Amino acid sequence: MNDFLFTRETPAQYARALHSTVDTVAVHLAGVRSPRSAATPDELEDLVADVDLDRPLGDLDAVVEETRRLYLDHAVQFHDPGYMAHLNCPVAIPAVAAEALTAAVNTAVETWDQSTTATLIEQRLVDWAAGRIGFPTAEGPDGVFTSGGTQSNLQALFTAREERLSRAHPGSRRERLAGLRIVAGEHAHFSVAKAAHLLGLSPDAVVLVPAARGGAMDVIALERALHEVEATGGEVAAVVATAGSTDLGLVDPLPRIAGICRGHRVWLHVDAAYGGGLLVSPTRRHLLDGIEQADSVTVDFHKSWFQPVAASALLLRAGRNLRFSTWNAEYLNPRDAVQPNLVDKSLQTTRRFDALKLWMTLRTVGAEGVGRALDRVLDLAQEAGRVVDEAPDMELVAAPVLSTVLFRHRPPGLDDDAADRLVETVRAALFDSGRAIVASTVVGGRRCLKFTFLNPGTTVADVEQVLDRIRDVARELLPVAAVAGAR
Ligand SMILES: *Cc1c(COP(=O)(O)O)cnc(C)c1O
Repeated sequence: MNDFLFTRETPAQYARALHSTVDTVAVHLAGVRSPRSAATPDELEDLVADVDLDRPLGDLDAVVEETRRLYLDHAVQFHDPGYMAHLNCPVAIPAVAAEALTAAVNTAVETWDQSTTATLIEQRLVDWAAGRIGFPTAEGPDGVFTSGGTQSNLQALFTAREERLSRAHPGSRRERLAGLRIVAGEHAHFSVAKAAHLLGLSPDAVVLVPAARGGAMDVIALERALHEVEATGGEVAAVVATAGSTDLGLVDPLPRIAGICRGHRVWLHVDAAYGGGLLVSPTRRHLLDGIEQADSVTVDFHKSWFQPVAASALLLRAGRNLRFSTWNAEYLNPRDAVQPNLVDKSLQTTRRFDALKLWMTLRTVGAEGVGRALDRVLDLAQEAGRVVDEAPDMELVAAPVLSTVLFRHRPPGLDDDAADRLVETVRAALFDSGRAIVASTVVGGRRCLKFTFLNPGTTVADVEQVLDRIRDVARELLPVAAVAGAR
């Protein structure tokens, strides 16, 4: 029987399955009191290994119950206020509803004949986002939804590479490829270096521009880096500026960088995977001033826009540059097609209708609703920074810009190296306890703890509670850390 499939014969089965799943999730949601269980990796491994994949349970209710036991009970809960580790957000309920819709209909947006209005909806959102960026309509801005910032950055840099190589210049394509450089701030996301590698550029293709005081890109050093590449006969495929660095939330000085790029006729890519939500912030849109001068922009809707993974977009100032991603197949997207085929703009072929999530969110709470939620998160980061700064046993490593707070715990009598060692053990102990999840990183050669906020429901009291937990586990661990250091 095919009654497990979504067909005209199965509306009742479909509704029952979804209702029972949704009811299970709702009960679970009401009961969550910590960002994860305290189960050990060994326990979880046993749980999953014990399932016999060759013996189906046959009944969805039983499967939902099993999945609750295996997955829901142990998943990392991004909506819990004790979760402060990475750029994960509680998700917009209209977006979750959209996921149920798109999963059932299973639209593939790559061609008109698999998609129809879904194509138009994605295109409207792309146009809308390009408008929010402020790309001039005269340049024909365009873009495409992608699976994330990593893919958006890859396609941006691929497009920039091809645009550069399409300009007249001495040398064969191979010779020019070897001399191509990507110039990025030292805090640029690692996906930039990965993209350079995937794009077949030379191992030293990524030129990192040092930071000025405060951490953002030093524009004098940028100017110098561009001159150096040009003086040695190389070509700059793109400058990558970051609007919201993953660690520190830094925003590079976009207007000055854009001016320099224009002067050198160099492609400017702005990686706003994290900071892109500022496009709808009622109070902080100015932090993105200058983004309208970029040639390409990455925005992750699954970070500061409260969308479920995956939802990202690459937006181009001049949509005609998407032609570099176009390959035609007679059976799918022939050259002379009358209706739009989004596959012409994408690195993917079969592609999810992720745009509907953002669409239904905007249609429910509006851009302002999203922006206000982000503002609350950014306000919280400022307050958390103050709380950390005022605590005698905590050291604020950098003033928060967006929603990350970097700090070190300094119990009395602990030297720098011991404080360094303490960071990772504290982070791991908190994770193991299941009661709070924070991140760690290295800034200026020193390890520090990191809060990343993206939950508008998290309060200063939640932050104080996590700081207390950090003190508690540090107190328990300190003898261990000291011993590890002595070894
Ligand atoms: C998160 C992030 C990325 C990568 O995005 P994914 O959606 O995780 O692939 C790229 N750049 C910046 C600045 C980011 O914060």
